[in-house]
Amino acid sequence: MALIKSKNKGNLIIISGPSGVGKDTVVSEYIKTHQNCWYSVSTTSRPVRKGDVPGKSYNFVTKEEFEELISKNYFLEYAKYVGNYYGTPKKPIIDHLNKGFDVFLVIEIQGAMKIKDLMPEAVFIFLLPPNLKTLHNRLEKRGSENKEKVLARFREAYREISEVTKYNYAIVNDELEETIKKMEAILISEKCRCDRIEEVSISDEEDYIRSLLLDEESVN
Ligand code: ADP
Ligand code: 5GP
Repeated sequence: MALIKSKNKGNLIIISGPSGVGKDTVVSEYIKTHQNCWYSVSTTSRPVRKGDVPGKSYNFVTKEEFEELISKNYFLEYAKYVGNYYGTPKKPIIDHLNKGFDVFLVIEIQGAMKIKDLMPEAVFIFLLPPNLKTLHNRLEKRGSENKEKVLARFREAYREISEVTKYNYAIVNDELEETIKKMEAILISEKCRCDRIEEVSISDEEDYIRSLLLDEESVN
């Protein structure tokens, strides 16, 4: 019999960091190589870009459709980022957490802070680039945006990096393999947190404890 009974619920893991730091690369690699993980597909009003797979990268909707979803209370959180809406659907997240899945949200900082107010027990991880030159190179190498949009995202990166201390963990995404190892270490530790314990019980072993203690008394 187990001495402790822990909550069967999965962890909610929030990943943020400047555009191009490697959030999607890291999370998709993690999910590929670990069990019981689920990636929450966000809804966005931004245009589809090179490399996007509708329904897999995002659910793409118009601005008007997004605003209708807001009015229907469809989102756990939503935010505007570089002129477009992005939001996290509420129901599938709650369902997957209750089924024991670790749920990954890759979202920007305003949205992450709304979740911190609603669900402070979630795990907040911020990815950082080794330096800003590498970040710029990664954004350009990805080739998904024109020069002007790359610069808008790079400018936003400055502001975002200064907010890293609002998160529980910071990982510098230099070598991908090292980043995955650090994520693994964090998530293993999170599973051992005492606030996940529902019950501590020694009652199943009371007979054993009594007999052991009686034996000891008779020796003395
Ligand atoms: P984000 O989701 O943060 O915008 P992406 O996952 O799209 O970033 O990654 C941006 C670019 O950086 C991609 O071309 C990706 O292959 C590359 N990349 C991601 N992580 C690393 C890494 N650890 N080392 C080198 N290149 C990386
Ligand atoms: P991108 O246009 O590069 O795919 O995403 C732009 C930013 O929006 C990224 O920082 C990404 O993490 C964030 N984002 C993606 N989905 C959501 C979401 O559902 N909610 C919020 N708040 N941000 C999101």
